[in-house]
Amino acid sequence: MIQIEGNKCDFCGCCVGVCPVDCIEVMESNIEIDDEICIDCDLCVFICPIDVLSNVATEAV
Ligand code: SF4
Ligand code: SF4
Repeated sequence: MIQIEGNKCDFCGCCVGVCPVDCIEVMESNIEIDDEICIDCDLCVFICPIDVLSNVATEAV
């Protein structure tokens, strides 16, 4: 599951473009990830230039 540090996000939209299952939605001042659809591939975590996203499941291991 991807955790969002919403107050850090600058809504650049980079993460939206890499998600293979299209479950990230970035609006003008809001970002949402649909956990039901997310496959935990971590691509969004790697692409985010300012480390807004983290995979909670991965960190727990
Ligand atoms: S790539 Fe990072 S900063 Fe850009 S919209 Fe996604 S979470 Fe926000
Ligand atoms: S971990 Fe993968 S599937 Fe989940 S939101 Fe990020 S890019 Fe999309």
